[in-house]
Amino acid sequence: MAFTRLHSSTVLFSHLRTFSPLSQPPLVPFSSLSLSRLANRRTPVSASIVAMDQNPTEEIEAPPTRKKWKPLCLYYIQGKCTMMEDGSHLEKFNHNLELDLGVDGFVLNKLKPQELDYLLVLDLEGKVEILEFPVVMIDTRTMKFVDSFHRFVRPTMMSEQKITQYIEGKYGKFGVDRVWHDTAIPFKDVLQEFEHWLAHHNLWEKVNGGPLNRAAFVTCGNWDLKTKVPDQCQVSKIKLPPYFMEWINLKDIFLNFYNRRATGMVTMMRELQMPLFGSHHLGIDDAKNIVRVLQHMLSDGALMQITARRGSSESGDVKFTFKNRI
Ligand SMILES: [Zn+2]
Repeated sequence: MAFTRLHSSTVLFSHLRTFSPLSQPPLVPFSSLSLSRLANRRTPVSASIVAMDQNPTEEIEAPPTRKKWKPLCLYYIQGKCTMMEDGSHLEKFNHNLELDLGVDGFVLNKLKPQELDYLLVLDLEGKVEILEFPVVMIDTRTMKFVDSFHRFVRPTMMSEQKITQYIEGKYGKFGVDRVWHDTAIPFKDVLQEFEHWLAHHNLWEKVNGGPLNRAAFVTCGNWDLKTKVPDQCQVSKIKLPPYFMEWINLKDIFLNFYNRRATGMVTMMRELQMPLFGSHHLGIDDAKNIVRVLQHMLSDGALMQITARRGSSESGDVKFTFKNRI
């Protein structure tokens, strides 16, 4: 969950608004082609899919010379789209996550050699229990999108009635409650599938255990891995997996690199004068926006390093790299 201080009713409709300039000048010149592409989207968009046989909640009228922006097929990104042969479905929904994460507009000459080969942007949703587990993988040498892992997560300790209410409240407004119900699986199963995905990319092997191999999670704040995953592991009665013991809090890197405090994803985007897009608090859209902030920071010359590490035992204290933290 990418926390912000904005009121939810304002953030939901601020998807594509370019933020008003701050009193200070922008941190760095930003000449992103992708920014101008985004700025040309004239109406708010929802990267959501209501149902296979319905229209997306909000149609985007793109200028005639430009390709129409499409919401992501949330079945596809979970490996569950059964309509890949259906032309009208393909016309309506985006089946290529990379489309929104291009690096064409970034200047790469300031890119620093990184200690890590891959970064896994993770942005959980769910206050009581985890409801969504989105991960987007980026190659640090090219800043390019490599792959994604996304699952909706079914709570284990809640009654069906409570789940329905909870999902209606959380995802109904994005029009994705049906795909949630169609696809959500328990956290334990999500982690099993996630471990296969990690192994497929040679990022982690169960037999070896330990941290990720040449890679690290990137989160917006410490909440996801310091608090929420350990809590959910307790609820789901599983051991905290070893790959969750360290991470990069992007806000700490932001503070120490730009010397500016950003309280959340929206603040970082405002500071960098980037427009927010998609549905804020839909986990996969927040993860994509965090990736865009990360790409911007890498292109400005930021070094991504572990900012938080948990002690060896499950209840071990977390130690932080930076003195200046947020
Ligand atoms: Zn699809």
